[in-house]
Amino acid sequence: MRYHVSPAALALAAGMFLATRTLSAPLSESETHSLAHDIFKQLIEINTTDSVGSTTVAANAMAARLVDAGFPAADVTVLGPNDRKGNLVVRYRGQRGSKLKPILIIAHLDVVEARREDWSSDPFQFVEKDGYYYGRGTQDMKSSDAIVVTDFIRLKKAGYVPDRDIILALTADEEGGKSNGVLWLLDNHRDLIDADYVLNPDSGGVVTDHGKPLTMEIEATEKLYADFELVATNPGGHSSLPRPDNAIYHIVDALARLQATPFPFEMNAVTREYFTAMAAIDKGLLAEDFRAITATPPDPKAIDRLAEDPRYNSTMRTTCVATMLAAGHAPNALPQHAEANVNCRIFPGHSQEEIRLSLVKLFADPALRVLYKSDAGELAEHGSDRKAMVPPPLRADVMNALHSATETLWPGTPVVPIMETGASDSIHTMAAGIPSYGISGIALDHDDNRMHGRDERIPVESFYRGVDFYYDFLQKLTAKKTRGQ
Ligand SMILES: [Zn+2]
Repeated sequence: MRYHVSPAALALAAGMFLATRTLSAPLSESETHSLAHDIFKQLIEINTTDSVGSTTVAANAMAARLVDAGFPAADVTVLGPNDRKGNLVVRYRGQRGSKLKPILIIAHLDVVEARREDWSSDPFQFVEKDGYYYGRGTQDMKSSDAIVVTDFIRLKKAGYVPDRDIILALTADEEGGKSNGVLWLLDNHRDLIDADYVLNPDSGGVVTDHGKPLTMEIEATEKLYADFELVATNPGGHSSLPRPDNAIYHIVDALARLQATPFPFEMNAVTREYFTAMAAIDKGLLAEDFRAITATPPDPKAIDRLAEDPRYNSTMRTTCVATMLAAGHAPNALPQHAEANVNCRIFPGHSQEEIRLSLVKLFADPALRVLYKSDAGELAEHGSDRKAMVPPPLRADVMNALHSATETLWPGTPVVPIMETGASDSIHTMAAGIPSYGISGIALDHDDNRMHGRDERIPVESFYRGVDFYYDFLQKLTAKKTRGQ
């Protein structure tokens, strides 16, 4: 069933059209501040977990605010596969007759589960304490939802007209659940969200150390996730009469080969930029090694040295690692069954099936089955042929605007393109052929990542600076270009 609420109806119900107001008076600094605060608080206090929450309630609340701020009701839509998994799509109209394709901003509204007893305060109460805002979603990612909604309203009130349409989609089920909003919109309403490129504030951002900015990261490609199950079976028997053929040994031999055989070194347009940027930031042997692996041909000794650090290793290749193991049924019986889970993070450009076949070849054991395990836990003889798109070179217009907005807010901070080794909704827009960039204006200390954890929080100052960043960044991306620029 398709669920659809007209925000015009909502606004009318709330009596909003009865008030007279000036729609395009620019907001003052303090008005911006209190608007951002109120939107953030409202979003945190609407439970959007998969178990009992609703993204529709949050989507409707944001839709009503946007219509109230002057967005035509026809450009603000809440829609989704059922009444609890609504997504908001709002189109900020650019110059009439613009030939430029729109920019799409995606940001998820749902949050990971949080239990009151695990937290110091109620995770669904917006609490300000000691310079931080606490609540589920303060980092991941209702802060960014609030920032973009605030800036849409702020730009509209200032009468700003971008050089093209900017679309914002606030979506369901990024963290889990069966109704991923980005996928649903791509499959059912591609016309509503089709774009030149995507901005996703779910990754990227300023990395700080005790508040001091180190780097502005932009996520420009993502690895693909896959689980494989290795299964060995055996007739078994009494353990007093062992045979050389043993289900546990088959699994152990395979895992030893996996441990000893890393996937080949690879580099793409984004990781090349990453290592080049890091060579300019770091010093000594580390900087030399970064330079040596971007050379042609890359220096194998430098690759080996860098591979000792898991962060660099995961940026240089597909990784597959044993994560679970189960075998045997009695201490005095030969095992009839042994299995292991191998978790892979696949370098863009390779499919799950391609990696499964590489594992089969590596293990070279006909007695061993290597099965693909879907997200739902189902086992299959073949992996899917889905792969993450090999990233095109970074767009100069996006990079220039990012450099400039970063320089304004955090002067002197280098911009570093990264490959995300986890996954976000950008994997779906990238798979749909739309280049996607993780860009966030939020500064967080590198050791204060509390996403999905207890007492999730964001520095108060980071939040408001993030509001100013996206306001500046969106204008720099969509300012009218003069000839020759
Ligand atoms: Zn997230």
